[in-house]
Amino acid sequence: MKTNNKKTASLPGATRLKCPTCGEAAALPASVGCKSPRPFCSTRCADVDLGKWFQGQYSIPVVEAADDTIVNALIAEVEVAAGYREE
Ligand SMILES: [Zn+2]
Repeated sequence: MKTNNKKTASLPGATRLKCPTCGEAAALPASVGCKSPRPFCSTRCADVDLGKWFQGQYSIPVVEAADDTIVNALIAEVEVAAGYREE
């Protein structure tokens, strides 16, 4: 008998997640009261990733704001929408 039971299919994303450090399958999600190195495969790979942050190998791009015109325009837009200010 052939059945097509979707409940027995593997969870999408749960098994396909790969360790960003080494590319191996990620550790399983933590159960109650336990820790998991997820999305890494092991605490070693998590430590390697943390080390890269500490060494400045990762960086978050920063948008340089020359002046506050963008912020002031957004504040004005919110105040008009909230009725605090006339347009
Ligand atoms: Zn790994």
